[in-house]
Amino acid sequence: MSDKENSKKKITTDYSDCAGKIKRQKSEKSVRDPALREPKSVVEKGYRGTLCLPKTGFSMKANLVQREPLLRKQWAKENIYAQIRKARKGAPLYILHDGPPYANGDIHMGHVINKVLKDLVVKYKTMAGFDAPYVPGWDCHGLPIEAKVVTELGEKVRQMSKLDVRKDCFKYASRYVKLQSKQFQELGIFGDFENPYLTFKPSYEAGILEVFAELVDKGLVYKQLKPIHWSIGCETALAEAELEYKDISSPSIYVNFPVAQESIGRLVELGLVEQSQAENAKVCFMIWTTTPWTLAANLAIAVHPRQDYKAISYDFRASIPDARCSRESRIVSIVATERVEAVVKAAGLKEGQYDISEKLARGSELEGLRYEHPFVENNPTDKDAFMVIPTEYVTIEDGTGLVHTAPGHGLEDYLSGQKYDLAVYSPVMDDGRYDDTVPDWLRGQNVLEVDTVINNYLRQEGLLFAEGEIVHSYPHCWRSKGPVIFRATEQWFISIDKELPPTASLRKQGVVGKSLRDLALQSVKNVRWIPAWGQKRIAGMLESRPDWCISRQRSWGLPLPVFINAEGQTLMTKESVLAVAKHIAEHGSDSWFTDSAREILGEDFELPEGFVLDELQKEENIFDVWFESGCSWYSVCVKEAGWSVPVDLYLEGSDQHRGWFQLSLLPGLGATGEAPFKSVLTHGFTVDEKGMKQSKSLGNYVNAQEEVAKYGSDILRLWVSSVNYQEDVRCNDEIIGRTQDAYRKIRNTLRYLLGNTNDFDPNVNSIAYDEMFEIDKWAMQQLQKLIAGVTEAYENFVFHRVFSLLYNFCTVEMSSIYMDVLKDRMYCDAADSLSRRSAQTAMHRILDCLIRMLAPILVHTMEEAFKVQKSEVRSQKSVESVHIAEMPKVDDSIDFRSAESRWQKLMGLRDEVLRVLEGLRQEKKIASNQQACVTICCDDEDAGVLNEFGLEQFAALCIVSEVKLQKAVGETTVVAEKSSYNKCQRCWNYWPSVGADSDYPDLCKRCVSVVH
Ligand SMILES: [Zn+2]
Repeated sequence: MSDKENSKKKITTDYSDCAGKIKRQKSEKSVRDPALREPKSVVEKGYRGTLCLPKTGFSMKANLVQREPLLRKQWAKENIYAQIRKARKGAPLYILHDGPPYANGDIHMGHVINKVLKDLVVKYKTMAGFDAPYVPGWDCHGLPIEAKVVTELGEKVRQMSKLDVRKDCFKYASRYVKLQSKQFQELGIFGDFENPYLTFKPSYEAGILEVFAELVDKGLVYKQLKPIHWSIGCETALAEAELEYKDISSPSIYVNFPVAQESIGRLVELGLVEQSQAENAKVCFMIWTTTPWTLAANLAIAVHPRQDYKAISYDFRASIPDARCSRESRIVSIVATERVEAVVKAAGLKEGQYDISEKLARGSELEGLRYEHPFVENNPTDKDAFMVIPTEYVTIEDGTGLVHTAPGHGLEDYLSGQKYDLAVYSPVMDDGRYDDTVPDWLRGQNVLEVDTVINNYLRQEGLLFAEGEIVHSYPHCWRSKGPVIFRATEQWFISIDKELPPTASLRKQGVVGKSLRDLALQSVKNVRWIPAWGQKRIAGMLESRPDWCISRQRSWGLPLPVFINAEGQTLMTKESVLAVAKHIAEHGSDSWFTDSAREILGEDFELPEGFVLDELQKEENIFDVWFESGCSWYSVCVKEAGWSVPVDLYLEGSDQHRGWFQLSLLPGLGATGEAPFKSVLTHGFTVDEKGMKQSKSLGNYVNAQEEVAKYGSDILRLWVSSVNYQEDVRCNDEIIGRTQDAYRKIRNTLRYLLGNTNDFDPNVNSIAYDEMFEIDKWAMQQLQKLIAGVTEAYENFVFHRVFSLLYNFCTVEMSSIYMDVLKDRMYCDAADSLSRRSAQTAMHRILDCLIRMLAPILVHTMEEAFKVQKSEVRSQKSVESVHIAEMPKVDDSIDFRSAESRWQKLMGLRDEVLRVLEGLRQEKKIASNQQACVTICCDDEDAGVLNEFGLEQFAALCIVSEVKLQKAVGETTVVAEKSSYNKCQRCWNYWPSVGADSDYPDLCKRCVSVVH
């Protein structure tokens, strides 16, 4: 045998994560396929026919791109998913409930990570003996789809009815469901792709309404005029999960609101303003804002009741040189004491240019004082306005300590407006333009474009004290990408803080008198979050979230099941919602737009007083698409499949703490009192090699379809398994391509094992563990250790550890040690000898276990290997596909722990021998390790270990001619020299017995016995 490959063996039992090492190892000499190593001289000498060379149909070249589609075709033909379900019928259920991607566009690398991780879980759980169904789903309604369709339709859309737009949306979504389904299946993902769940299916829609009926019944659903996030671009309300925060620059302005004449006396009384100032200066409340356009809707100024306020007086010409107004030369502005310094600085006032009042007043003392709006002459509302109100949320971290309050355009403003009975005034229309209730010069203007106009006006009036710019994080619409505004509109909400009625199920759980928020915060503690920080993250979001705005002013979605009578009163009860659910289950949600209330509710529906069936109008709003997907646990798991909830696992990207996890939790708790999931696993997002977000415009985008077409799915799957998905995942074509090297090493290991067990029948030729050769026992022990580690890693979803354990086992334990040591025995010993059968027993078992442990990752390659093994080795496999087989279990009769220290010693000595031989080879003193005679100089302890193992065995372990021992004290040393023995022309070993047989003078004793 040529054993030049021995030269750089990496002998290490380090199990640390090796994902990062792949590249480094690539530059080293790669381990060549041992099966290819065939000495030429054997052929020349005519001994070739006497060798047992490896033989297998499992080719070295994978040809994944050609081979994978053929396998998938076979799976489709055999309906592998149905076969798996049949095989696991009656086994304990394990439910991973799929989060629905949008039926929009090709799949991208984020989908690849998400779906492959899910498939790893499902395939592992299946092989671990569970009945683990996977029902893929798609989010088919909603703005992302409607926006695309409307864009595609262009001007035509203006002439189309709502129903016709919906028909186009349906076609669009169906098209992408089909496309993405195909692309997911190309990744080797198994699931019920014949019957996926689609949120626009009537049965699914009915499920949403059934959940909604429960929430209605518990009094959690209400309609209110309230400020919500509004997308001007998409003309609809947005939920928290539909916002993207971006840093933008906004104007930062300090504005003086003149105090009303009637209130100045009070300020004099408080000592903030002197009598002379009251007569000669303009007295103002100073506010600060970054949204000048909302000033048009100002109805109050908020102060903190326990904060101190002072007055700054200054000559306004000094601070605002270009102001036209000169009615007063002196201005007195009230600001919070702690903000005086910052406010003065903002206007660039120098010492001597201003005075500060000695006296101060409490915010509570300013309550009820009146002011004149800077540009709105008359109160536009039918309620009181333009006064100072004390509220707790006023902070003195920025601004002036006096807060401009517009109840129609901010949530806190709205709440304090409720408290002081202010109108919810929003003079902004759906398209973002002011309505006619604002001053002439603002009417019809887009609110996002008027900041400069308003600032100019205030400057000219002499009311703009200071202006600047501020960069801050501001919400933007996820679809139109434009900045969103806060705007009061009539919307439907789910109350997060209302106390839930004491239902039987809540009483059973001991939670009475709690709100949805209380229940949610409690339940997230009982869910297993992977990684663990997910709990804190979602809890933080739940603590601060507002009521859920569930209505949308669009076409493509499930209509809100609300009827309105002639007086504008609404009808929405559990019974009416369930009646709508029943109708939609039969006729689909389009029927809401075509059928009458009589047809929908039915003739016999009992209406409350004041409602007449034929006079009922239907609500035009549709559901927030998040409410639809948030009911999937019910529509899919409970209603359709009959599984019990909570299900075992939800697995999505880490942005879903705000999205699907939270918005499934809330309807789940509202309807049943229980969270819909037991565990939640999250993964990071793909970024480029520098950690930057990937996008087509940046040019660092990785096209998933191109990667599959170039490398094959198994390479992508191997790559997904190798990364730490809990962090952001760096990915580009080069990183994915590098995985091919790891793949080749794994494939070659399997090929060697398949090739060398070709003539092995486990039922006939197996050797009992106790009778095995020592090194074969070692291999069996390493296998048990591997199974234990891999099982634990799979159980904990640590797939990159599964990968590194299996990869290291293939490259180190197998390729660098075991397969190398075995070559002589496998090729040269007699075919049916104990030595060969012992090795084959171990190899057969290792191969079988490796194939199964790798099957969830390399779904195509392991199926191929499994089928080759089934056909070539008489292994009597009972199942047709590796994906129906079960995961290997640790063989408890094999003790891999107690022998560990002895093996560590032996492998350490072997390392030392190989190191010395390497030097000898470099000096050209020997051509191969087989030519070397080794003397180990050691103390009694090491000698004892070696003698117990057997020197001949140790020589075989090091693949040398002979090993001798020499007694020494101190450190163990190794001396090697060229062997004086002759070379056997069949096995290339330099053994003492070469030439002993006169019939075969060029062979060793072993080879003579085999050839003879
Ligand atoms: Zn020989």
